[in-house]
Amino acid sequence: MDISMNFEEIRQTYNCEEACIDILYAEKWPHGYHCPRCGHHLAYTIRTRRLPLFECRSCHHQASLISSTVMEGSRTPLHKWFQAIYLVANPSIDINATLLAELVQVTYKTAWLILHKLRNVISQADSIEILNGNVKVNAALYGKPYNPYRLSHPQEHPLLSGASLDAQGKITYVKIKQVPKVHISQTNILRSGIDGFLKNNVDPLTEDVTIVKLRYPKFSFSPLFNLCKEANLRINANFHGIGGKHLQAYLDEYCFIINYSNKKQSTLDQLLHLCATRPSITYKALIHRDSSAPHHTGHLYAA
Ligand SMILES: [Zn+2]
Repeated sequence: MDISMNFEEIRQTYNCEEACIDILYAEKWPHGYHCPRCGHHLAYTIRTRRLPLFECRSCHHQASLISSTVMEGSRTPLHKWFQAIYLVANPSIDINATLLAELVQVTYKTAWLILHKLRNVISQADSIEILNGNVKVNAALYGKPYNPYRLSHPQEHPLLSGASLDAQGKITYVKIKQVPKVHISQTNILRSGIDGFLKNNVDPLTEDVTIVKLRYPKFSFSPLFNLCKEANLRINANFHGIGGKHLQAYLDEYCFIINYSNKKQSTLDQLLHLCATRPSITYKALIHRDSSAPHHTGHLYAA
């Protein structure tokens, strides 16, 4: 897929399953078929279903093209997933479930679930990245409206942001993380909150770490302050303000776009790769995280 195409070109190019099967196969098995059970590299292809099934010639294990991918268990056609992946990965498009449902022609519930599944693979990938080298850490805030001088309203969520810098002082990787409430005292992030952020996100061998606990522009590392401010504005504009339960997923999505827009590998190549190589979060796990999911009635949504 090509990020320089506009959505209409994407929709015309990726308009059926055949247009997507080979791309997904190449992302999932870049060195050819690899049996998930025994590692054998030859398989029979069974083409009686919507998507091909591969049966290992050695152990006869059957693997679907979408098993162990973000699309596993989904009844939504592959080309709609591809269109959704393009829309999420495109830095110039802010996508939400209402817009995705309209553009890709799925129900709102399906669009909501697709977006959360895509955000989840982004979060999975970010969780194994660590900041290193010259690292800046700033306290920040998510709120509606954005006001770094406040931190007492229930709609305001304390954050810690961190960035790795290159030798020229340019940000090479950024993370913005919610700070659990147990690490907050009135308007302050406690030392335990900073320690937790460093433990989860910063290389322990890094010696060059600058931490600013005050959220105001005058004290903060300004490129990081500006990114956090922009994250606030974009999340509020796109989602009209959100609660705390899914905030981390939106922040990870925002950082993903920043991080891969800076790299050789485009956001679209990277997201497609993550979708083909990482398992899907289950609906149950997603709901466990969020009791405010749309029209939650206890039955499974189908993506
Ligand atoms: Zn096998």
